[in-house]
Amino acid sequence: MYPLRPITNIPRSYGPSSVRITCSVTTTNPHPNHEKALVLEQRLVNHPLSKDNDPTLQSTWTHRLWVAAGSTTVFASFAKSFIGGFGSHLWLEPALASYAGYVLADLGSGVYHWAIDNYGDKSTPLVGAQLEASQGHHKWPWTITKRQFANNSHTIARAITFTVLPLNLVINNPLFHSFVSIFAFCILLSQQFHAWAHGTTSKLPPLVVALQDMGLLVSRKHHLGHHQAPYNSNYCVVSGAWNKVLDESKFFEALEMALYFQFGVRPRSWNEPNSDWAEETEISNNQA
Ligand SMILES: [Zn+2]
Ligand SMILES: [Zn+2]
Repeated sequence: MYPLRPITNIPRSYGPSSVRITCSVTTTNPHPNHEKALVLEQRLVNHPLSKDNDPTLQSTWTHRLWVAAGSTTVFASFAKSFIGGFGSHLWLEPALASYAGYVLADLGSGVYHWAIDNYGDKSTPLVGAQLEASQGHHKWPWTITKRQFANNSHTIARAITFTVLPLNLVINNPLFHSFVSIFAFCILLSQQFHAWAHGTTSKLPPLVVALQDMGLLVSRKHHLGHHQAPYNSNYCVVSGAWNKVLDESKFFEALEMALYFQFGVRPRSWNEPNSDWAEETEISNNQA
């Protein structure tokens, strides 16, 4: 007689093992006939935050191997930079190149984040799984804090491996590797920086909080803006330094317009802030 609407859009791993159904009778009309309404409320008992052991958030050995491979290529690039700088007694240029790598990694993280948030889906070749994870992150932002490190970073580590390994093999310029090693290092850790931006101060390492407060790592406050309407700002997740510039200049909006007029593709951020973007905290259903 009072059917419950089905619960939808819950990832399989967070599917409720049990649903508590609370039924209560309330009076909605103060007039004498006292019409009664039945209010049915569904709440998930098993909130995703309680899923510490969810296998989809755990690292596998494949994840760890890709992180190891990516880290090795970054370390090899850094070694070429360091050894070359030591041999030539040049320090200022490698330092500046490294700084440029750090600064541009923030920009790179923003462009990449914008692209995977707005275009493609899980059927997209090569990056479909990451697109699904990134887009799902908007519904369940807190789960990133529950992901283990390699689980969170292995896709980027794999891309780093395939990019930096050939550079290590064919280029020996130490200045070039000063830039590449720091750029790739920051990109490799960008998902961890992103996870820390979702952390609470009391649970984060004090050094991380200090770096966030100094603006050297993306701050919790700034990244919060990414998860609030209109859901099209603060894409950068290394230092976050580029966010102000990109958002105020409407850089991504201009890029979205250019892509739309060129290819007819609409970015996801143009949709109403609906279930694709809005954070899903609970599902309730009131029927009178
Ligand atoms: Zn996002
Ligand atoms: Zn986030």
